Amino acid sequence: MAKGNISVNSENIFPVIKKWLYSDKDIFLRELVSNACDAITKLKKLSGIGEAKINADEAFRIDVVIDKENKKLIIEDNGIGMTKEEVEKYITDIAFSGATDFLEKYKDEEDKNTQIIGHFGLGFYSAFMPSEKVEIETLSYIEGAKAVKWSCDGGMTYEIDECDKADRGTKIILTIAEDSKEFLEEYTVRSVLSKYCSFIPVEIYLTVEGSEENKDADGNVIPEKPINDTTPLWMKTPKDCTDEEYKQFYTKVFMDFNEPLFWIHLNVDFPFNLKGILYFPKINHEFAANEGQIKLFNNQVFVADNVKEVIPEFLMLLKGVIDCPDLPLNVSRSFLQNDGYVKKISAHITKKVADKLKEIYTKQREDYDRYWEDINVFIKYGCMRDEKFYEKVKDYIIYKNLDGKYLTLPEYLDGKDSKDVYYVTDEKLQSQYINMFREQGLDAVILPTMMDTHFISFAEMKEEGVKFKRIDSSISENVAENQETDEEFNNKLIEIFKEDISDEALKIEVQTLKNADTSAVILLSEESRRMQEMYRSYGQQFAGMSEMFKDELTLVLNAANPMIKKVVTLDGEDRKMVCEHIYDLAMLCHKPLSAERMTEFVKRSNKLIEKAI
Ligand code: ADP
Repeated sequence: MAKGNISVNSENIFPVIKKWLYSDKDIFLRELVSNACDAITKLKKLSGIGEAKINADEAFRIDVVIDKENKKLIIEDNGIGMTKEEVEKYITDIAFSGATDFLEKYKDEEDKNTQIIGHFGLGFYSAFMPSEKVEIETLSYIEGAKAVKWSCDGGMTYEIDECDKADRGTKIILTIAEDSKEFLEEYTVRSVLSKYCSFIPVEIYLTVEGSEENKDADGNVIPEKPINDTTPLWMKTPKDCTDEEYKQFYTKVFMDFNEPLFWIHLNVDFPFNLKGILYFPKINHEFAANEGQIKLFNNQVFVADNVKEVIPEFLMLLKGVIDCPDLPLNVSRSFLQNDGYVKKISAHITKKVADKLKEIYTKQREDYDRYWEDINVFIKYGCMRDEKFYEKVKDYIIYKNLDGKYLTLPEYLDGKDSKDVYYVTDEKLQSQYINMFREQGLDAVILPTMMDTHFISFAEMKEEGVKFKRIDSSISENVAENQETDEEFNNKLIEIFKEDISDEALKIEVQTLKNADTSAVILLSEESRRMQEMYRSYGQQFAGMSEMFKDELTLVLNAANPMIKKVVTLDGEDRKMVCEHIYDLAMLCHKPLSAERMTEFVKRSNKLIEKAI
């Protein structure tokens, strides 16, 4: 038997690694299973070129065995195996020095516990995370090779010796430490395997030592089943996949029982490798849009969800799987962010998404309109996040009008003199204004979400001259009748309302509206409202700022309305009551009244009825 010292130049780093990686402890299983998978892939390759002999009917498999009684967790493969020299070289030297490098590289990273480390792991070395002892028994495929056993108990020394392993392949035996006992539980091991290894290309079998064989009702042994799907849908050629398969895969992977709207199968071999499926999920309300999930895989091994270093941020609103086999995973986060390969992946995905949208828009316009409610948040967000994406999809941004039809901006503006786009944020609340618009044969678009608030500012920047105006922000020139106005009458009216309403901040104007039934409307300046909304959306620390931009309200009195005409003939308490009531009615159509004002309003209504009967 040989003994040796592990050639790392720092102190014993096991405790450091254990502590450091605590929160991501379960990745060790992914690392060991994917090593096992690599070992099998390598052997298959060698056999393919005639370098290794394997039986034609040989079934390749990875076994994960829990032996709770002996505190062992075993990962075994029938892959390439290692010779003594290879164990010395790859395990003792390279894997260990790799781990030391890794520590060196990351010891200054800020949030050690999160993301990158857990994602990309330490390779073989991570076997020590849950273990007090790690043993390897391995037999190389090379003819005449002797089986070897290597073991290390987490100190600075290891032992290596020949052993009697008879089958080709490698067996990693972990003696699970007291603080990691959960890895002796079937439930934990199964869930870790299904998280990381569900799509690994070699069958994985999980066995619990000492448990009864699974039998059916007739007492027949149920044949064991691998825990994974070795040929996930994204690895297949798109033309061989059916809609049904795409939908099933979606439901299975994302546990979402709503059908996806449509999907994009990414399949690139050159100049880089990329496979995956992106789904556009059906969403029922605005916030669900944030629940996207992009699963990143590396050669069918799950890396992590939503890795923002690799996948364009706005795509995270979608659901999907992306497999990047060439992704350099042993590098730092900032490296990934600046990596040309990653940039190319991002650009490619972005282009594919834009192409798909264009295709649906041009070939299936009705479907596109139907999807719009679900996909618009994604598209708008994408446009604001990614200039190139905006350039590609800008012609396919549509707006729903008052009749529920979807129009592009040029379609909406067609035949109009100005580039003003009127919009509604709340169809119920703004119904009075909508009615006014409709009566004049005017149109507006419906933009109800928070995303829209941001998007319209963006669109104004991009589209020369276009100005978005909420339907209650000004009286469109077409609405106001260009009648001769009586200056004297108007001034008097304004004075009366100023006196009776006594709100310094309120602006009062008189206009002659086409519809005589409306006594007054409230207008809210577009700029001040947007400022306010912006500060409010920034949250608490800006609450004070939003106060600075108090609502700039204008009360527009309709000179064509009989009641308004009569106000000038009233005086005293009656006049005050009428003025306040007209004002409240206009306010009611603008936004809900405060509790106090509502009480006042009801009281006053009663008084007015009393007077009338
Ligand atoms: P990586 O897999 O990134 O090369 P690891 O630290 O996980 O790094 O493994 C180091 C090396 O040890 C591997 O490259 C491989 O040569 C060898 N090795 C690890 N596990 C096995 C295995 N199950 N069968 C054969 N060789 C293995």
